[in-house]
Formats: sequence, C-alpha cells, structure tokens
Amino acid sequence: MTSTPTNRTTAERDIESLLHPYTNPIRHQEIGPLVIARGQGVRVFDDTGKDYIEGLAGLWCTALGWGEERLVAAAAEQMRTLPFYHLFGHKSHDPAIALGERLLALAPVPMARAFLTGSGSEANDTALKMIRYRANALGQPNKKKVIARDRAYHGVTIATSSLTGLAVNHRSFDLPDPAVLRAACPHYYRGGRPGESEEAFSTRLAEELEAMILAEGPETVAAFFAEPVMGAGGVVVPPADYFPKIQAVLDKYDILLVADEVICGFGRTGKMFGSETFGMRPDIMTMAKGLSSGYLPISALLINERVLAPIVAEAGRIGTFGHGYTYGGHPVSAAVAVETLKIYAERDILSHVAQVAPVLQDGLRGFANHPMVGEVRGIGLIAAVELVADKETKTPFDPSWGVGATLVARAQDHGLILRAMGDSIAFSPPLIITADEISEMLYRFALALADTAAWVA
Ligand code: PLP
Repeated sequence: MTSTPTNRTTAERDIESLLHPYTNPIRHQEIGPLVIARGQGVRVFDDTGKDYIEGLAGLWCTALGWGEERLVAAAAEQMRTLPFYHLFGHKSHDPAIALGERLLALAPVPMARAFLTGSGSEANDTALKMIRYRANALGQPNKKKVIARDRAYHGVTIATSSLTGLAVNHRSFDLPDPAVLRAACPHYYRGGRPGESEEAFSTRLAEELEAMILAEGPETVAAFFAEPVMGAGGVVVPPADYFPKIQAVLDKYDILLVADEVICGFGRTGKMFGSETFGMRPDIMTMAKGLSSGYLPISALLINERVLAPIVAEAGRIGTFGHGYTYGGHPVSAAVAVETLKIYAERDILSHVAQVAPVLQDGLRGFANHPMVGEVRGIGLIAAVELVADKETKTPFDPSWGVGATLVARAQDHGLILRAMGDSIAFSPPLIITADEISEMLYRFALALADTAAWVA
C-alpha cells in the first residue's frame, strides 16, 4: 500500500501516479520530474523557486509567454457566460464564429471555411478524413494515398503517427501504415550531395517526388503534407526554392497541399504563416499551439473551395458531415484564441519578431565555429544547433552517448529549458521575448555548451 500524499514528496507522488509522454519511464523513476509551479513572461519557476528561461515556449506554443492577464480574463468571462457548448447539429456560439471569421481573414491564400478541433493531431487527422471524403465525393475512390516526409511530425493518433516520419513514433506501435508514402526531408546539410548546390538539391527532391508520384500512379495520390519548417524532426528550414518546386509538381498532378502550421503559424517564422515565408499555396492549413498561445487546447483547419465544395455535396447526399469532436471549437478555448489573435494584431507581433529575430539568429550563428557545432539553422524565432563529433566530416556522435540530452540537462542546471531532437538542440522561445532576454538565453546556452564539451572531452 502507498503512503498518504502528505507523507510523500511531490516527486514520489509523480512517479507513483503518472506515466509521462515522451519520457523514459525507467530513467524517470531514478531522476524524477522537474515540477514547474508557475510562470511569468518568458520564465517558468520550479517548485523550489528556481527560474528557467523557457527556450521552447513550452512545446513551441506559449507565444505570449506566461501571465498574460488578458487571456486569463477572456477565459474567466467566457466561463461565466457559456462554459460549454458545441457546434453539432446546427448549433453555434459567438466565440467559434468570431474565431472562424478571424482565421479566414488572416489566411494567406483564399480559404472557404474553418473547422475547429482540439489539438494538432486532431486537426491533421481531420485533414486526412476530409481528403478521403472528398475523393469519394469526386468519384475518385482510388485517389487516397498521401505523402509525408522523412522526419515530419504531424501528430500521434493512429493515422497521424503514420504521417509522422520519426522511428520513435512507429516502433512497437505497429506503424506506420504502408499507405503513407514517404518523401525526402529537405535538410540540405544532411541530404545535399557533395558539390550539389542548394538549388540543385531542391530540384532533385522535386524530381524524386515526381518520380514517386508517377511510379504510384498520379490517379492514386491525393495529398502532400508538409510543415513549412519541420519542428520535431530537428528544425529543418527548407532551401528557399524547395516549396515552389514541390508546389509545381503537386499542381501538375492535381495533388492537394496540406500545410501543417501547428508550429509555424502565427508569426514563428516571421510572417503570420510559414506558408507565406516559403511560398506555399496550401489547400488545407492546420494550426494549433500559437492559436491560443497554448493557454487552452484548440486547433483549427482552414480549407479552400476545392476541398469544401465536394465535402458539402457529399455530406448533403449522406445527410450529415459525420465528423466532429465534443470539444472542437470549445467556447472558452475559442474565446481565448480570439483574444490571442487580437493581441498579436494590437501589439504587432510580426514587427516585434522582425526586430528580435536577428538577435537570436545572429547570436546562435556566433556558435558556428565551436568545434562541436555542425550546423546552426533557423528563421524568425525558431532555430536549432546541431552537435557533431567531427565538424569537417559532419559525423554525428554515437547516439548512445546522448550528447544532445546531456546539453539539455546542463542547460536546465543553468536555468534554461531547451529540447534535444537527437543531437539537434531546438530554440523556439515565446514570441514576446526581448533582445536582452535572448542575450541571457544565449549566455546560459554557452555555459551548457561549455559543460557538454568538457564532458565529451
Ligand atoms: N503538427 C506539428 C507540426 C506539431 O509540432 C505537433 C506537435 O508538436 C502536432 C502536429 C501535433 O499536435 P498535438 O500534440 O497538439 O496533437
């Protein structure tokens, strides 16, 4: 029998009660949790009061930082007025309508409707279902294969895990579904051939995509999913001409483009959407995280007329569009999202990002000469530093050493929360971060890098 909660430490209670996502449960029993108690601005504080700069905005989401009272007030007011209602069966409510209107107005390409969901995975899962439904509506029952890229991250439901191109999300889950076709990751540093220019690399990837579509039969391929900047795959910023070349192939074979804006949406790459930064013309956009600054769970899809019209026709024939989540467009989440979007506009978050992004990007590039740093990459307020065993040959460290994880642990000691994807260390701070706070973050990172270099040596 376990002891009563009052006799146990918080760490013990955690270990005995929770199975943590994305955590090694055996190691967790040894080291226990970092318990975060509160946050203010770009900082969070653990239960001993120690402060950390949140270099990843939680999970790439808390764009307005912690303690934004306007979001608290929006939630409280909506809680009092209408804490729950739904959108099923012709019902509606003002927060959802206002959010739909705002998202359509923000869209970088003409979009016809918003569909509200609860998480990034739900939004991408919904996109997959809409793609199937549309194919059936159009009398193209064989045009249902989807393409996603190596190292992509689109979620963890059964269907979206298969879009995700990371081994850890497949191993022992009997995934991925073989119906998901895999295209190359546009990481020039790792994927470029000796002597190949970035432009030639993009051309080759577009040619490989076309060859795959032709081999499968274009009449069987429905959609291509892509994050503008790949996040969990290691912050992969594509070459400038990659998406225009990919888009041309998709257009040629009538294949939909789904832009997964879950991380890139709402200013992360310097424009409102990553699709604008990289010249994508999506038919479906999925978004979450920055949509509510992570304060409440909410996500959304925007779909264009090409997607909407067949869905409307098919649902009309069937008698209903048989899809929707209880919490899709939850009024409190939607009210917080509307307020978040208002704040981005009022405070001109894009100008702020334009102002401070060079401090982050130039500051990180200052580490490029470090013997352990293979590549520094990034755009706007998202970046990664890739650590390597040999700079000249780009040879990675033996993964069993856990060099990336070690750096993140040392950073935590120095009051900086970062995330390692293998040996790539990701940065994605709250968008409200100031130049001084970025400098402090880089200083703490430098200490962690020095500690890690000493440990490796
Ligand atoms: N798509 C992208 C690009 C993501 O980064 C994530 C989560 O990090 C998801 C989808 C899945 O979102 P969620 O964890 O809310 O299901």
